[in-house]
Amino acid sequence: MRKQQVKSLMQKFTVKDFRKQFPNDDVCLEWLKDFIYPDGIPCIKCDKITKHHKVASRKSYSCDRCGHHVHPTAGTIYHKSSTPLTDWFYAVFLMASTRCGISAKQLERELGVTYKTAWRMFHQIRSMLTESDDKLGGEGSMVEVDETYIGARRKGITGRGAKDKTIIVGAVERKGSVKAKIVPNTKAESLVPFVRETVEQLSIVHTDEWRPYRHLLNHRYYHETSNHGHKQWVVGESHTNSIEGFWSLLKGGLRGVYKGRATRKYLQNYINEYAFRYNRRHDQTPMFLSFLFQTTQSVD
Ligand SMILES: [Zn+2]
Repeated sequence: MRKQQVKSLMQKFTVKDFRKQFPNDDVCLEWLKDFIYPDGIPCIKCDKITKHHKVASRKSYSCDRCGHHVHPTAGTIYHKSSTPLTDWFYAVFLMASTRCGISAKQLERELGVTYKTAWRMFHQIRSMLTESDDKLGGEGSMVEVDETYIGARRKGITGRGAKDKTIIVGAVERKGSVKAKIVPNTKAESLVPFVRETVEQLSIVHTDEWRPYRHLLNHRYYHETSNHGHKQWVVGESHTNSIEGFWSLLKGGLRGVYKGRATRKYLQNYINEYAFRYNRRHDQTPMFLSFLFQTTQSVD
């Protein structure tokens, strides 16, 4: 039995599994309730865990002893939404089910909702996909740091002098997690604080030869450089292939869902979504459940 449970966790969560596990709104609500209150619902009036029952045609449970109501959706993106929970959960499922993200247009088609509703749902789910402030690396760990450019109006403008682009700096621990953030420029004043915020001191930080990174040596980091211009980035251990892998995943995905300037203000949320997925790429828990767990948290 136990072995079977582990196996089912390792398997992909298919749309058939989804329909079976979340057939209607009551089941979705019960899943939320059980996830948020795994030991039973503590009634604030009775000041202890009591038995509760579902209130008919409402998204709440009522204490059997005193009648006090509890809303499992309170504080979450699901609260006070007129969209059925099954549609919400399906949106989470869709977002989690592809490696490179999915457009609101597709959600609009699949759910038969307006584009505006579909876009808002994805936006709200995406806004929940943040990570903890834990830093990457540690003494002797290899971390790669690099910047990239998103949203050029014209093709072919690349490099650090490009205008009309949004600059993103990222750090990835080899075989580990990524963190990435929009920065105003590629000067030391932007790059160094990012590394200090996201990477543990005494990590071995790999970058290209961009001068501002030399300051890292003054902040208790080891620093290794590779020379992109001479295509030497796989010589020895000094390369930035991992972070470049993340950039290509991000850019490939954004090509389908991100429409340049109009959505620039939401770009950080998109970056967070791709990072969230990337950071769980080796997890045994199906991606859908990792996403769903995340949406049970309170909106800030
Ligand atoms: Zn009570």
